[in-house]
Amino acid sequence: MTDASTSVDTAARRRSAGKVSATRDHKFPHGLQSAAFPLNLRFLQNPGMMPQPGFPHLPAYDVKDPPLTDQRDLVHPRDEIMQTMERIYRYRMTTTSGGNLSIRDTNGDIWISPARVDKGSLTRNDIVCVKPAGAVEGLHPPSSEFPFHQAVYAARPDIRAIVHAHPVALVAFSICGQTPDTRLFHQAHFVCGQPGFAPYACPGSQKLGQNIAATFAQGPDCVILENHGVVVGGKSLSHAFQRFEALEFAGKTVIKARHLGEVRCLTAEQLERAQSRRVDFQPFVPSAACIQEKELRRQLTLFIRRGCRQRLLISTEGSFSARLDADSFLITPSQRDRETLDLSDLVLVRGDECESRKRPSRAAAAHRAIYLRHPGVEAIVFAHPVNATAFSVTPSTFDARTIPESYIFLRDVQRVPYGIQYATDGQIADYVSPGSPAAILENDGVLVTGNSVLDAFDRLEVLESTAEALINARALGVVAAMPESVIAELKKVFLC
Ligand SMILES: [Zn+2]
Repeated sequence: MTDASTSVDTAARRRSAGKVSATRDHKFPHGLQSAAFPLNLRFLQNPGMMPQPGFPHLPAYDVKDPPLTDQRDLVHPRDEIMQTMERIYRYRMTTTSGGNLSIRDTNGDIWISPARVDKGSLTRNDIVCVKPAGAVEGLHPPSSEFPFHQAVYAARPDIRAIVHAHPVALVAFSICGQTPDTRLFHQAHFVCGQPGFAPYACPGSQKLGQNIAATFAQGPDCVILENHGVVVGGKSLSHAFQRFEALEFAGKTVIKARHLGEVRCLTAEQLERAQSRRVDFQPFVPSAACIQEKELRRQLTLFIRRGCRQRLLISTEGSFSARLDADSFLITPSQRDRETLDLSDLVLVRGDECESRKRPSRAAAAHRAIYLRHPGVEAIVFAHPVNATAFSVTPSTFDARTIPESYIFLRDVQRVPYGIQYATDGQIADYVSPGSPAAILENDGVLVTGNSVLDAFDRLEVLESTAEALINARALGVVAAMPESVIAELKKVFLC
């Protein structure tokens, strides 16, 4: 597969629009109401409002059985809509006037963002509740796009929340009549599925609702709207947001990567390999945390949050760890929203054991292999910054010999063949070291190491800004790498 987008025959879509109820293929059981990937949004609005979740005592798991599906959703729809809208706006994935969110609660009431209210300063009282019989409760009218939300809920009983917005990458696909191929990344493929495409109709019209609902009824959970934007459904608002973010990220990556050359998607075999990997750590109960552990927990949570906000990390993908001693480290938990992690969410891994009642990131074995092989590595991050990730989906070489800062921080950046990071033989440790601290992971973002949490984060920023400069430079002319004589001088002055 070389073309990471799919052109859509909208006429064919229109022809099939009336037949969709016969082809409905729900992926979730009807009436599913639990939040599978609840955003832990407490810090945004009300610190301390949510209890710490408890997990089953099951540290070993595979990716077909992601944890946290048993968490109860405790956030009121008003707060969840407000907080998610704030986040989408802050991530620059909507404008003040564009986009709307809704939740269908267990009573069948639809909670939705209001019409004509600044998305950048929404409050909980601005959220509108529409009763099943049509009565509206709230200070404002519901979003003018309420008809399509209602139509999608009618067509898909499994969908409990909807995100609609006009994020720039997906809008670019929408105006070209294309959908991004989510086989670019295993995460996008499994989280989003393959998007559908709904033919154009006037915003706010019943016809638009029919077109979108008909496309959802055919099975997709994400639908690109012709000359408009995207609608994403989920079994909770956090689930829909996760899909929305992953799809926009895939779209952005394709657009960036097209500047670099041929875009490669994963094969069915590669996707299966990602899906079938397992994480096996036996549980242990740690003793009281030492000062060093407390300090590292603090640093990790701060830099992970910063990484999300600067769009270096995706909310539910990637991992960040810090070494505690020769064979123990702290790492991000699996399938948890990175932006809202607390000190206690990080998982202590010691040898082949991990802190009981927690699940470490699926990359924990790769982190451990790197720490064991390289005593000088103190922090590791697997991340998905869009420009550097664009290199990962093309054969284009990432050359850090652009400016002195890039070379000094990144040195010669290696390219890791797809899947090495999932192997259990520790091969991933061959690709990084204190002298070669960063690598591009084919179709899976980047890997950066450092001699501290700050050092790893700093290198990640340098990697991403270097990648962006390299992509931008292609629009200007031929990229001239620094010659060997300059590299030799830099090594002599800075790297001895
Ligand atoms: Zn819209």
